[in-house]
Amino acid sequence: MGLKRNIVIDSHKFDVVIIGAGLAGILMTIACGQNELETGLFEKDTPGGSLLKLGEIKNIFGYQKITGKDLSYSLFTQAKNNQHVKCFYGCVCFFQRLENGRYLLATTNNSFWEAKAIIIATGSENSYLPKELITNDKKLIVNENYETIWKNIYGLGQIVDNKKSVDILQAITIILKNLQKDNIFHK
Ligand SMILES: Cc1cc2nc3c(=O)[nH]c(=O)nc-3n(C[C@H](O)[C@H](O)[C@H](O)COP(=O)(O)OP(=O)(O)OC[C@H]3O[C@@H](n4cnc5c(N)ncnc54)[C@H](O)[C@@H]3O)c2cc1C
Repeated sequence: MGLKRNIVIDSHKFDVVIIGAGLAGILMTIACGQNELETGLFEKDTPGGSLLKLGEIKNIFGYQKITGKDLSYSLFTQAKNNQHVKCFYGCVCFFQRLENGRYLLATTNNSFWEAKAIIIATGSENSYLPKELITNDKKLIVNENYETIWKNIYGLGQIVDNKKSVDILQAITIILKNLQKDNIFHK
């Protein structure tokens, strides 16, 4: 059993794993892919998250008019077409820091993965987050760099406990700078 688990982990190593393919997770995935980070994006349902419920949106990312559903499809396609990105259907239910400083992640269907950094972009659904990382109202606690108290684990989008409105694109820029500073870019 232990041997089998090691073999699985060895074959799935990422620089960054992103949990949740809502707007926040998909945009973060595109940015990581463009920066040549080996990136895994996990979504437990349909990519797009709460964006799927939006009707027509005007003047966004070069579109004069687009529905939330079409925007999700377009952005998700852009993300998964990057050679550095792999997208998975799966619910991440567990992660733990390893002795080598990386993180081990597991999904509810028992697949195991390893990552140097994790971006939590699970929106309002956060049932599997470690209790040390969340507030009483189940929001993720982050500092000004969007980093949690666990090194190289970041929060992005609606899950973040931030009294100010969170600009996703600004947050992505800050997180990328920190990944660079922490040598996530170097193998
Ligand atoms: C033009 C535009 C700009 C916007 N700008 C912003 C902005 O700057 N800031 C902002 O906050 N909102 C913004 N929004 C709102 C945005 O659409 C979302 O409503 C909001 O940001 C939530 O997105 P999210 O990605 O955080 O969460 P969600 O849309 O809720 O996505 C979370 C995803 O994570 C998945 N998930 C949850 N748990 C797990 C798990 N354990 N494993 C795997 N998958 C999981 C869910 O199934 C879901 O698909 C903007 C909307 C538009 C149209």
